[in-house]
Formats: sequence, structure tokens, C-alpha cells
Amino acid sequence: MSEREAGHPAESADGIEAQAEHFDVVIIGGGLVGASLACALAPLMERHSEACSPQAPLRVAVVEANELSSAADMPRFQPSFDARASAIAAGSRQRFTAFGLWEAMQEHATPIRTIHVSERGHLGATRMRAEEIGVPALGHVIPNAWMGQVLHRRLAELSLAWYCPARVAEIVVTADGHHLMLEDGRQLVAGLTVLADGGRSGLKERLGIHSAAQSYEQHALIATVEMSQPHQGVAYERFTSEGPMALLPLAGRRMELVWTREPDDAEHLMTLPDSDFLTALQRAFGERAGRFRRVGQRHTYPLSLVRASEGTRPGLAVLGNAAHSLHPVAGQGFNLALRGVTDLVAAIEAGQARGEPAGASSVLSDFETRRSDDRDNVVLFSDGLIRLFGVDSRWLGHARAAGLIGLNLISPLKRLLARRSMGIER
Ligand SMILES: Cc1cc2nc3c(=O)[nH]c(=O)nc-3n(C[C@H](O)[C@H](O)[C@H](O)COP(=O)(O)OP(=O)(O)OC[C@H]3O[C@@H](n4cnc5c(N)ncnc54)[C@H](O)[C@@H]3O)c2cc1C
Repeated sequence: MSEREAGHPAESADGIEAQAEHFDVVIIGGGLVGASLACALAPLMERHSEACSPQAPLRVAVVEANELSSAADMPRFQPSFDARASAIAAGSRQRFTAFGLWEAMQEHATPIRTIHVSERGHLGATRMRAEEIGVPALGHVIPNAWMGQVLHRRLAELSLAWYCPARVAEIVVTADGHHLMLEDGRQLVAGLTVLADGGRSGLKERLGIHSAAQSYEQHALIATVEMSQPHQGVAYERFTSEGPMALLPLAGRRMELVWTREPDDAEHLMTLPDSDFLTALQRAFGERAGRFRRVGQRHTYPLSLVRASEGTRPGLAVLGNAAHSLHPVAGQGFNLALRGVTDLVAAIEAGQARGEPAGASSVLSDFETRRSDDRDNVVLFSDGLIRLFGVDSRWLGHARAAGLIGLNLISPLKRLLARRSMGIER
């Protein structure tokens, strides 16, 4: 990968078009989702090595605003106590395997063997165990920084154009796709533009794609904690009247805490000395996972359910946080986005087989058809989970507890719920 390596100056002699670099696909944003898409497109970019392939290799560019060190000078990854981590479902592991990335990812991946869901003040608890579902692990927890390094190392091996640091400042619709203006004056022409910019750059709005945002009026407080006992690969989801909590297993006795609270409470928890914070955490979480011994740096994130009004247009696809941002307690956002990545690559490949370019309307409507049910189901599932457990009513509480106990007994339903959480079932 080198800057502009795969760019092809336009044949056309007139004006702007002539100065621009032309691509079949331009990915705006080289974060977890944009970088995963670029890696997933690798087989379509490398077609030229297959002499018998009738299709031309796909010309791909990634534009990323934040400077990243080149793969050669990336430091050896040192897991830090404070590193942010994500729960990666079993289905995402299958996808990373298909992209040739899992072997590297698993170096710093902690398997989730059991998911334990409970509600404070109620007896019910449900456990999903990997062996009951027939899989070696329900998912894995991987530090985000490590996922980023693995993805960017792979990008460095691919023949794509990498614009970084570079920010797309303007995007103009053309007859065959989009014209992209970078802040530094460079220009790109894209048959298919993929918005994987996290949704905060304003590009979506400039194209007239609006977002419906519903605030949960909660903040997520994230920190790494150290426990008094080994976690045995258990991930906990605990619902309390103040908001849901999740504890995810990390290396050693460390766990990643996601604690949702009302904004004022979260701010207050941020200001507490470590010992007072640990006491408050112990009181809220109970003793199921042992004693909380140590806490690292704390961060908060305001939570809302955000959905873009459109996921596709001719020549445009919206992916990742730009398309949907979910409550993090169910750990679904990136997993859902990775399924979108796979579906987009499948739609492009199917289009190529029909002789259609990546940005063709038929390719994007195929992608939309593949996506829409999954996206709607996951939004309903994670939003419903938060709302079901977010209401503090005594009767509802008993009903929920009965539901949890019931779920523990009715294994086909539990298996379905687990397989959906793992991203295996849609
Ligand atoms: C607290 C928390 C915990 C979470 N835990 C989980 C979990 O356990 N499991 C899970 O599946 N999901 C989880 N998620 C969701 C997950 O983090 C997101 O789905 C994921 O990070 C989205 O990645 P993205 O690449 O779409 O966006 P981003 O990570 O925001 O990346 C966007 C990229 O675009 C670049 N960019 C922006 N504008 C421009 C521009 N104009 N030009 C060029 N580049 C641009 C940015 O620099 C950035 O690198 C969690 C989310 C939160 C908030």
C-alpha cells in the first residue's frame, strides 16, 4: 500500500476530472469498520494475480483523517491496563477468519465461555454456556488498539491507495458516482463511495441523509478493573434500576467494565477517588464476579440510538457508526457493522459477475436487501433489551425475573438468543 499507488489519472482532458484520481471504491474512514471493509475487499483487488479471472482488479482507496504510524514503525503491541476492548461475537470471528485476520487477532483475544445475565434485586439469572450452544467460545474480547493494528498491518500489504492523514471536505454527486474533495486540495472520483466516517463528519448531512437520534439519557462509563478471582471466561450483563452494566473478561484477572448511568451520576462516579469508586461499583454489581480490586482510567460516552435515514443510494453505501450507533451494553455495534461489510462485498462480487460496477443501483439494492432485516432485528433486540430492563416497576421486575429463570429452562429459546447475540443467527 502506498499513497496514490492504485490511483489512475483520468483520461478525460477537462478540468477537475482530469486532475482527479479515479477509483471503483473509495472508503471514507479507516476506523475499525472502514479498515475491515478494505481487508474484506482484498480478493477483488488482487484478481490480476489470477490469470484466468475475467474481471479487472477493483481499484480501492481509503481516506483516513487521523494520522496512523506506518505498519513498519508500529510499536510492538503492549496490552495496557487501560486499553479499551470490544466483545467480538462468534460470527465476527468467522468473518475475521475469512478475511485472513483471525490468526493475528487471537494473539490478544480472551474467549467468552459463559454469558451470565442477571437483574439486581431479583433471583432470576440466565447462563449461556459455549458447550450448550455447541461452540468453543461464545465470543472473544479484543483490545480495540490491537484490532486496529492487525487491520492496518494487513492494509499495508494490499494494493490500495491510502490517503492518510487526509480528510474528505466535500462530496459532490455526479452521473457515475461521486467527486470527493480532500481538505488538502486533492480530488478523487469514486464509482462507489462508502461512508465509514463514524457519522460525525457532517458528510452524510451534506448529502441530505438525516439521522434519527433517540437519547437514552444515559452515559456509559468504561474502565478496566481487576478482580480478586479468575473470571473463568464469564461475561456478565447485569440490569439494575440505575442502568445496565457489563463486565467482559480480559487477560489475567482484568475485566472491561461498561456501566451505564444517568449523566449526572456518571459524572459523579468519574470524580470519585478509586477506592470510593470501587466501593460504589461493588455495591451496584454485587459479589458474583468476586471483589473489585483495582480500576484504571475511566471514560464516559453519552448514549443514544442513532440511525441514518438511508443506508444506500446509487453510488453510495453507509456503514458502521455512520449508519447506526447502538447502546453498547449488548456489544452489538461493531459485530453488526462487520456483517454489513460481508454483505457489501458479496453484493459487489455478485455485481461484478454480472458485469456491473461496484456503485451500480442493482449492487446497492442487493446490499440493502441483504442488510435490512438483520439491521432492524439487531436494533430492535438491543433497544428492546435496554427498554425492558430500564423501567423500574416492581411487577415488571418480577416478570423479567421469571423471564430470566424461564429462559434458563427453555433451552431452544436460549440457544436462539445466544446464536443471535453471537451473530450466527440473523
Ligand atoms: C463504550 C462503547 C463500547 C462498545 N463496545 C462494543 C462491543 O463490545 N462490541 C461491539 O460490537 N461494538 C461495541 N461498540 C460499538 C463500536 O465501538 C462501533 O460500532 C465501532 O467503533 C464503529 O466503528 P466505525 O469505524 O464505524 O467508526 P469510528 O471508529 O468512529 O471510525 C471513523 C473513522 O473515520 C475517520 N473520519 C471521520 N471523518 C472523516 C473524513 N471527513 N474524512 C476522512 N476520515 C474521516 C475518523 O478519523 C475515524 O478513524 C462500543 C461502542 C461504545 C461507545
